[in-house]
Amino acid sequence: MSKKALIIGGGTAGCTAAIEMSKKSDWSTILVEKGSSLGAGVSTNFKAGHPYTYGPRHFLSHNEEVFKYLNNIVPLRRCKEHQFTSFIESDSQFYSYPIHEDDFDKMPDSRNIKEEISVLDEKYKNAEFKLTKGEERLEESANNYEDFWIKSVGNTLYNKFIKSYTNKMWQTNDNTIIDDFTWSPKGVAIKKGPREGWDSAISAYPYALNGYNDFFALAGKSVKTYFNTSVDKINPKTQEALINNQWEKYDVIINTTPIDHLLEYSFGELKYIGRDITFLILPVEFVLPKDVYFTYYCGSEKYTRVVEYKKFTQYKSPHTLISLEYPSSRGRLYPMPTEIERERAKKYFDSVNDDFYSIGRIGAFNYRYDIDDAIEQAIKVTKSL
Ligand SMILES: Cc1cc2nc3c(=O)[nH]c(=O)nc-3n(C[C@H](O)[C@H](O)[C@H](O)COP(=O)(O)OP(=O)(O)OC[C@H]3O[C@@H](n4cnc5c(N)ncnc54)[C@H](O)[C@@H]3O)c2cc1C
Repeated sequence: MSKKALIIGGGTAGCTAAIEMSKKSDWSTILVEKGSSLGAGVSTNFKAGHPYTYGPRHFLSHNEEVFKYLNNIVPLRRCKEHQFTSFIESDSQFYSYPIHEDDFDKMPDSRNIKEEISVLDEKYKNAEFKLTKGEERLEESANNYEDFWIKSVGNTLYNKFIKSYTNKMWQTNDNTIIDDFTWSPKGVAIKKGPREGWDSAISAYPYALNGYNDFFALAGKSVKTYFNTSVDKINPKTQEALINNQWEKYDVIINTTPIDHLLEYSFGELKYIGRDITFLILPVEFVLPKDVYFTYYCGSEKYTRVVEYKKFTQYKSPHTLISLEYPSSRGRLYPMPTEIERERAKKYFDSVNDDFYSIGRIGAFNYRYDIDDAIEQAIKVTKSL
């Protein structure tokens, strides 16, 4: 008799798990998705012909194997050229992000900045960071997000680029509560040489106008999928899940959704930040400069980022689609990177048995996990079964 697996949530992690589980002849797997389609914010929709996702969603990775895996299903265009910029309201200027040393001379307070940098510890200002993993040595020696940035770039640059943006992004007045930080410099705190955002990692986006959708369609075809269905409760000891008012037992549960909800918030609610998005179509072919795919707003406006979708999708049109993202309390998308929340998440993870896996950005409650990590984790878990 085949063993039974339940996958909760049909985003990147759940869909990868579905594709992989379908290759195992001794398993019978179902996927349960509360929405009406697969892929969550990574799936492509169309507005007046323009393809778009929910926020940027490009594939960023140091992992060639995961790149090859996805590229086999949805061929990916390497877009190494892509740059990010930050608008610094106080200077009324756009600069490169990661913070670039060639921009210092354009800054009104360049003297201060250079003086501050000259006295910084080399191990901070010249550190390099992988996307998912940080630099453990620094993580141990910086006390928190604010401390890490001030040690890496000095007070003036921290105040310009990081302070208010981080307050906005995490909906806090106090950046010292954030104790997980080495994801934030995007590779390096002060960049030298190329202005490309990710010259040391793979940066890619699907060639197809419908983006990653064929990947999600393959997942839907691979296992029996239930749409508009929510898993709202599990019994962590017996491996039973409540689906459509019926308890069902599974040999394995792969969860990619907020674990607190499944366990009736028994250790309190885990804090996630959501995102509201506004889309605009503007009467110009391109809004952002060549090779700039998106730009951050460091100042008093409430949005964090402007994304120009054509830069990713290569869609041809005389007009362009952009989005503005607003951090919000609606939606559970960005797990709060604080110790108190991680400890709460750990209590949930410790309370389930070994055949319950919680993966992906949402399921593992880890903001560092991007598309590549969600795929990697799903492959790893399914391989182990
Ligand atoms: C705005 C934004 C922009 C991003 N941009 C990038 C980027 O450019 N590059 C990158 O690599 N990463 C990016 N990410 C992160 C990346 O997209 C995610 O880490 C990854 O896609 C997460 O996949 P997941 O499967 O873990 O979770 P999700 O994609 O969130 O999937 C979870 C799924 O579970 C479903 N669900 C929730 N609760 C239940 C329930 N109770 N029962 C059944 N189903 C349920 C949801 O509807 C959803 O479909 C971005 C994230 C956001 C929010």
